[in-house]
Amino acid sequence: ILDVREVRKAYNGLEVLKGISFGLYRGETKVLIGPSGSGKSTLLRCINYLTVPDKGRIFLNGDEVLDTNIDAMRARMGFVFQDFNLFTHLTVLDNVTLCQVKVNGVDKKEAISRAQQELERVGLSDKADAYPAELSGGQQQRVSIARALAMDPDVLLFDEPTSALDPELTGEVVRVMQQLASDGMTMVVVTHEMGFARQAADEIIFLEHGHIVEQGPPDVMFQQASNDRTRAFLNIIA
Ligand code: ATP
Ligand code: MG
Repeated sequence: ILDVREVRKAYNGLEVLKGISFGLYRGETKVLIGPSGSGKSTLLRCINYLTVPDKGRIFLNGDEVLDTNIDAMRARMGFVFQDFNLFTHLTVLDNVTLCQVKVNGVDKKEAISRAQQELERVGLSDKADAYPAELSGGQQQRVSIARALAMDPDVLLFDEPTSALDPELTGEVVRVMQQLASDGMTMVVVTHEMGFARQAADEIIFLEHGHIVEQGPPDVMFQQASNDRTRAFLNIIA
């Protein structure tokens, strides 16, 4: 469903992605790990052109992501950010409703009913009328996930969704993500939550210095990663 081919990106002459290729079938979850500065965020942002790659091509469901169709393509890729990115002046319900109406052209009533469904899915039905500032970080991140889901995306991209959260709030977000993975959502997740990687990932991709050093299913990666640096990295964080 997602096909990333030979993506390259340089900042000020310094190449941070050096020809990254990977693919995702419908319903797969891939977890992207790697040291700080290895290019994980840049890669995710290149996938939906928040950062425009210098070279390489990206296909979603067989359609190439291009400058010319980027709004339509972005509507098909949900993005969940580290810092939630909610509209602070809107209620939870409006946050989850707005893009459906504005971007997807969904009828207001229908959008509200979809928003209520997605809020229920992340366990926040009772917070529909609250403002983001009245919620905990974990709740805000769950709203942000509900907002992405309400757009009915083909793929969800997560960039360290729990790293801005206190440890006691991480679990509730991870549980929602695990549920999505087992419901068959297609996801690319940058995270240091190795419990999530172990449980939910179909494959783990280890990125270092803009290269994919190694990739494989979690049990293989955790037990017998063949690359020394992958092993060293997993030992540090796991
Ligand atoms: P982290 O784990 O810290 O989030 P990361 O793997 O997500 O790291 P990136 O944010 O993709 O890494 O950054 C990769 C490299 O690109 C870093 O050296 C970073 O300084 C550089 N970089 C990222 N964004 C920009 C930018 N907008 N302008 C210049 N350099 C950038
Ligand atoms: Mg990052």
